[in-house]
Amino acid sequence: METNPLVAPWSGPFGGVPPFDKVKIEHFKPALEIAMAERLAEIDRIADDPSPPTFANTLEAMERGGRTLDRATAIYGIFASTMRSSAFQDVEREMEPRLAGFNDRIVQNARLFARIAAVYEAREKSGLTPEQQRLAWLRYTEFARSGARLDEVAKKRLSEINQRLATLYTDFSQNVLADENSHSLVIDDAADLAGLPDSLVSAAAAAGARGHDAKWEILNTRSSVEPFLTYSGRRDLREKVWRTFASRGDNNDARDNKKLVAEIVRLRDARAKLLGYPSHAHWRLEMSMAKTPERAMQLMQAVWKPAVARVAEEVADMQAVADREGANISIEPWDYRYYAEKVRKSKYDLDENEVTPYLQLENLREAMFWVAGELMGVRFRAVSGIPVYHSDVRVWEVQDAAGKHVALFFFDPYARPDKVSGAWMNAYRNQERFAGEVTTIVSNNSNFVKGRAGEPVLVSWGDATTLFHEFGHALHGLSSNVNYPSLAGTNVDRDYVEFPSQLIEHWLITPEVLNRFARHCKTGEPIPKALVAKIEKASKFNKGFENVEYLSSALVDMRLHLDPAKAGDIAAFERDTLASLGMPRQMAMRHRLPHFGHLFSGDSYSAGYYSYLWADTLSADAFEAFIEAEGAYDKAVAKRLRDHVFSTGNTVDPAEGYRAFRGRDAQVDALMRKRGFPPEANAPRP
Ligand SMILES: [Zn+2]
Repeated sequence: METNPLVAPWSGPFGGVPPFDKVKIEHFKPALEIAMAERLAEIDRIADDPSPPTFANTLEAMERGGRTLDRATAIYGIFASTMRSSAFQDVEREMEPRLAGFNDRIVQNARLFARIAAVYEAREKSGLTPEQQRLAWLRYTEFARSGARLDEVAKKRLSEINQRLATLYTDFSQNVLADENSHSLVIDDAADLAGLPDSLVSAAAAAGARGHDAKWEILNTRSSVEPFLTYSGRRDLREKVWRTFASRGDNNDARDNKKLVAEIVRLRDARAKLLGYPSHAHWRLEMSMAKTPERAMQLMQAVWKPAVARVAEEVADMQAVADREGANISIEPWDYRYYAEKVRKSKYDLDENEVTPYLQLENLREAMFWVAGELMGVRFRAVSGIPVYHSDVRVWEVQDAAGKHVALFFFDPYARPDKVSGAWMNAYRNQERFAGEVTTIVSNNSNFVKGRAGEPVLVSWGDATTLFHEFGHALHGLSSNVNYPSLAGTNVDRDYVEFPSQLIEHWLITPEVLNRFARHCKTGEPIPKALVAKIEKASKFNKGFENVEYLSSALVDMRLHLDPAKAGDIAAFERDTLASLGMPRQMAMRHRLPHFGHLFSGDSYSAGYYSYLWADTLSADAFEAFIEAEGAYDKAVAKRLRDHVFSTGNTVDPAEGYRAFRGRDAQVDALMRKRGFPPEANAPRP
């Protein structure tokens, strides 16, 4: 087993890099088994230590250990999102419940918890640094919240629930992936391409050649579906593509997710009750900046009302366009993006199609690197020879201003059949210092449709924004400057972790970025000033749609996890909840429950989809700090941002960190201004 590359320490440059060139699917199971056994033996040694519990022999010992498991699960996690072949899915199905059971064995180790509790209780008088006190608090609280104080019978029941949930999460996400891979729109007649811009046609041709040997293919993923719905002049095909995408996990077949969702919600509720909480939502939000579901709901409601009112205005504008064209239709969900685009053209003289040729993926990547240099003082240098898991993946070395090496950045931009849809950041190796400096390794992943060889990949404004968003997460991870890996980088509350990422989105539209990097794919000309002015002017356009699409998903999430009694019939729950909210009939949720991966591929964003709104309250307010100073590139504000937000990980309470950066608490007004809504007096302050 010494030859298992998932178990061996990472070798090569930069303090070792993931051995992607050696990993085979058959390595995962034995590696995880070895790593779990090794970790359990370590935990036993710590728990059975005859000397009195101290921070060093308990919490630091826990931080120091588990490295084999960290390495193995890092690569396992990378494969679970980017290389999820059917052979790997078999491994997941077997190993997920076992990993859940393994976690419970640690949390439920009574001798270990007694030691953690002793260190926690003595934390203020045992000479610990603030960071060490924070780690003691976090570990104690996490253990307690995960059932460390329960009796043996309850512990056993809890572990059964966790293991069953792990299986359900795996099944849920595998079903969604399968529905995305198997229900594309195959096009063989050029007439079906009506209205599509050249960039989309060539992406569809590339997808067709790779996929079903078709002339063109519209994949059943967001990056393909949304542009198609925006431009296709074929209403019948728009409806078809929209319905297929909206029905992922909801086709009443073997891959239908509705029953799985009902069981997940029921089990989560049972777990929350077992742990002494009124609901899963209360349990989840205890460890968040919002603290309670009520505060999260209050903020969502405050934005929901003006958003719905704005949708009514948007629909009226779109209906007028359709009427003028003599289309003889009323706006339906599959018409929204198409007619919104026409309104954008007529109201703001802005054609997204005119913008896209200026948005080349590779230039945008250079733009992100440049912004990182301006704000955080880091430089990116392409490196070769680092093993990757797929030939599309490229690697950069990150250096600080002094030329000191700080991190590696992996970039995996293109869609593949075995890759989960959407975009995300991943931390392969967390920053830490207490046991010696390490090279942080982070990645960005997205699903752009790869063009034909030699053709630049052009992306929409929305996708460019997402690119900056994920890069914000990466920057958060690689700017980390803490002692303990558990507190490093993006290991922060769910409704705080989206703050750095959403903040970085703001730099895309700065003239400094657009003038340098938004260059026409054919002529190389920079984007015209007049076009930038139009983009800025239209920046509040379609906010009704964006907010209602998002908030309906977030509100349904919270209601479901507050009131699970109604979750037996998921379809009815979704329908009734939307009706009670007053969901505009021309719209649908961004993520319907049968494919809402944020909620049901794991626990992390469950009762937590509101987090994006919460964090955007911070990011809108934070960006205004730059504007109030010298602008988006103000060095003093950038330094405060680095010192109090990007580098601190989870070493300070997020509200305190924000206050240190801003000099005060965040105000909701900035969010309302950013979204173009009237101020809301009743919204809670984050
Ligand atoms: Zn994010």
